[in-house]
Amino acid sequence: DTIGDNFARTAAAFPGRDALVDRTTGRRWTYAELAAEVDALALGLHDLGIRKGDRVGIWAPNCAEWTFTQYATAKLGAILVNINPAYRSHELEYVLNQAGIRLIVAAESFKTSDYAGMIEQARPKCAALEHVVLLGSDAWNSLLDKERTGSIDVELSADDPINIQYTSGTTGFPKGATLSHHNILNNGFFVGELCNYTENDRICIPVPFYHCFGMVMGNLAATTHGACMVIPAPSFEPKATLEAVAAEKCTSLYGVPTMFIAELADPDFDSFDLSSLRTGIMAGSPCPVEVMKQVIERMGMAEVSICYGMTETSPVSTQTRADDSVDRRVSTVGRVGPHLEVKVVDPETGLTTPRGEPGELCTRGYSVMLGYWEQPDKTAEAIDAARWMHTGDLAIMDDEGYVNITGRIKDMVIRGGENLYPREIEEFLYTHPDVLDAQVIGVPDAKYGEELMAWVRMKDGATPLTAETVREFCTGKLAHYKIPRYVHVVDEFPMTVTGKVRKVEMRERAVELLG
Ligand code: ATP
Ligand code: MG
Repeated sequence: DTIGDNFARTAAAFPGRDALVDRTTGRRWTYAELAAEVDALALGLHDLGIRKGDRVGIWAPNCAEWTFTQYATAKLGAILVNINPAYRSHELEYVLNQAGIRLIVAAESFKTSDYAGMIEQARPKCAALEHVVLLGSDAWNSLLDKERTGSIDVELSADDPINIQYTSGTTGFPKGATLSHHNILNNGFFVGELCNYTENDRICIPVPFYHCFGMVMGNLAATTHGACMVIPAPSFEPKATLEAVAAEKCTSLYGVPTMFIAELADPDFDSFDLSSLRTGIMAGSPCPVEVMKQVIERMGMAEVSICYGMTETSPVSTQTRADDSVDRRVSTVGRVGPHLEVKVVDPETGLTTPRGEPGELCTRGYSVMLGYWEQPDKTAEAIDAARWMHTGDLAIMDDEGYVNITGRIKDMVIRGGENLYPREIEEFLYTHPDVLDAQVIGVPDAKYGEELMAWVRMKDGATPLTAETVREFCTGKLAHYKIPRYVHVVDEFPMTVTGKVRKVEMRERAVELLG
């Protein structure tokens, strides 16, 4: 199946049901109306000369037009290139050239970013770029002209590349994963299946569309089941998200841990009626158990699911199911998804580790990307000859197949020969009543090779923690070598647009701090 065929089938099955709500503009579309926009836009792009395999960039915060473009390009067989809304001109130029983008659809500006200006600046240096279409412009409106006639005659295969998605850039420069219809359509479908979505579900999507969490686990999971996509705001805002859930009676809410933490801490949290929530997805980075419990108890998301995955695997590899025990649903990332394989290997020997022993998680199956766009060397480093994707994540799998992510290989700290997993220490610090959020990194140390440093965000009005008070709190409960030597209190962590903490940047800053 291709994304276009699948979408057309859903639209025909549920023409009168709500498909999309954009709360920024207050506009809404039924499936029949959304299909009309998508068909018009596909024809409009076709008339401009966009053909199968052409790269079409999209550079905009979350908005309905993002979704139109996603489905219209899929219908044409053009390759959608998701451009990070936080990019600056030099990064834009890089992606325009790296992906050979022929047409870019862009918001004119967003917050302090002048997208139109940056595109004009980059344009003379980007040979492939022929068309720039700004959302809301006459050119854009004419692409959506419903009077346009004609037809699109194109042979598509489910294995064709359809999308270049960039990774979050948590550990370095983002990489462009090339994905097929087959990759992401199946993943969206199964994520939705495991959330038991039907045409009665309304999914609140505050996570960015430019990232797989928004466009696959959000949009594709919705449109493969006839559910409705609700866009609360152009980018994440806790209050707008809670408002959207209440006003639109959403049944499902998505977020990375930092988003749920912000929502739960919102001073007006109790004034929102969230009783329509049944489920939702937590994914993207490790979530403290305590936050999961609050999501279930205070937000009423009884069936909330934790998903684990990465852009390179469409993204989801493991997921908790509604019928898993609460304990497993808050403390593991579930079991392998349908029609996929996962294994845990010793990174040194490549041999599968015994159950219960940590190693690198590997994934195989329909979800594994075609490769990094025009980076065969990087692809060969990530995907081995037997098509296993090496995730770079450390995991433990128990006897029943439940997976626990213990951290990224790159974040593991080796202190005096001891392997330390920041995740475990973060979980513990999180139990301190004054701590809003905690992150632990390794910093260079002459004696031990590395030492632990905790970065802590305090709750409103709490006395800032110090190395001494942290030591007191941990002593007797954590092994002495797991107690952070340094403590740094901050208002915010350095973050990616997808809401992940950039430990690379923390490590750089820590080195400066320690002088
Ligand atoms: P980059 O690859 O550019 O450094 P990134 O790995 O954060 O950035 P993504 O593809 O957005 O880019 O994220 C995938 C990673 O997110 C996984 O490899 C894993 O480390 C982390 N992750 C995703 N879901 C979970 C989860 N439920 N629990 C713990 N970690 C998770
Ligand atoms: Mg990654």
